[in-house]
Amino acid sequence: MSAPLVRGWCPGAHRPMMSGDGLVVRVKPRLGQLTADQALTLAQLSKSHGNGMIDVTSRANLQVRGVSEASHPRLLAALIDAGLVDADPEMDARRAIVAAPGWSGGDQTDRLGTALEARLGDLPAMPAKIGHVIDTGPARILDGVSGDFRLESGESGLILRADGALRGRPVTEDEAVDALIEMAWWFVETGGRESGRMKRHIASVELPSGWTCADPGPVAPRLDVGPHGGSLSVGVAFGQLRADDLSALCASGCSTLDVTPWRMIVLNDATQAYDKLIESHSHVLITTPGNPVLASHACPGAPLCPQGTVETRDMARRLAFQVPPGLHVSGCAKGCAHPDPAPLTVVGCDGLYDVVRDGRASDVPEARGLTRAQVLERFGA
Ligand code: SF4
Repeated sequence: MSAPLVRGWCPGAHRPMMSGDGLVVRVKPRLGQLTADQALTLAQLSKSHGNGMIDVTSRANLQVRGVSEASHPRLLAALIDAGLVDADPEMDARRAIVAAPGWSGGDQTDRLGTALEARLGDLPAMPAKIGHVIDTGPARILDGVSGDFRLESGESGLILRADGALRGRPVTEDEAVDALIEMAWWFVETGGRESGRMKRHIASVELPSGWTCADPGPVAPRLDVGPHGGSLSVGVAFGQLRADDLSALCASGCSTLDVTPWRMIVLNDATQAYDKLIESHSHVLITTPGNPVLASHACPGAPLCPQGTVETRDMARRLAFQVPPGLHVSGCAKGCAHPDPAPLTVVGCDGLYDVVRDGRASDVPEARGLTRAQVLERFGA
């Protein structure tokens, strides 16, 4: 078996990555939110310039898949026109901001996001994976979501917290972005580019005194699928939906859609009775809490990923109802969809499947070289 290839580069709209099904064009909706019109436009563009498949990423972004090199310039121009991509490639690359879903125009999330976006040019050049989090509601819902520079609610007001630090720096709203820029310059001037991420960096370099004196506020319960107040949260199996699924979400009558980092899209102002209709529309969209597919992980596998040698997602759908929650089906030992241990991991290897218990995709399997039928039979699926 050949070792999996590790790439240290994030695809963007201006600089897409080639995958097994064509170019992957990443779209970063502003603070994770699209209007229903923007979502419909994206769905149409995905069909006209891509293969109609759209990823929902762990950074609350969307990715148009299957784009050819010839159609990329036209897609990019249309995305810029729709206000979904910055015309300036550098600013688009720097606009890596995950915001707590449910924000609305003029609230603190919107104000902080606007202020940060206006100052992106004042940030130093940083590694591609660096990102920001805005999580200033009564309780922090983005705890555990990747983001190096974090504006959060503290026990007694707004704080700026370096990812990996237990405590943060108290700031006023007016000071927040200046303080974040100061922290970003401290990061690069103390060798952060070599560390790559803030959490790794502060494991060996101490933050300035005064930047770790305020406790973060409480953590909110994880968002679940289903109706919440005036919104409806819809799970996306394995983080990939079709253009028609996205159009169906817009038909719920929602005003805006919040893309979350948890393979979930929140439909704001959706007609509540729409949940069953959405779930019946597609085996991809999930509105029933506790559906085991939502707790399962599966990368695109073969043939979408050149390194995958087996089909993954149909296998995961069939196994999810038969095995403990947290199933992981991986196209190869790299384990992109879930780098952590899982109760059961099924891993592709040279066109057949290995089975790992309580481990990662790269761990020693308890069974090797099974056919698809043998795996399904082994777990009664
Ligand atoms: S784990 Fe899946 S997505 Fe990652 S390289 Fe392997 S086949 Fe591709």
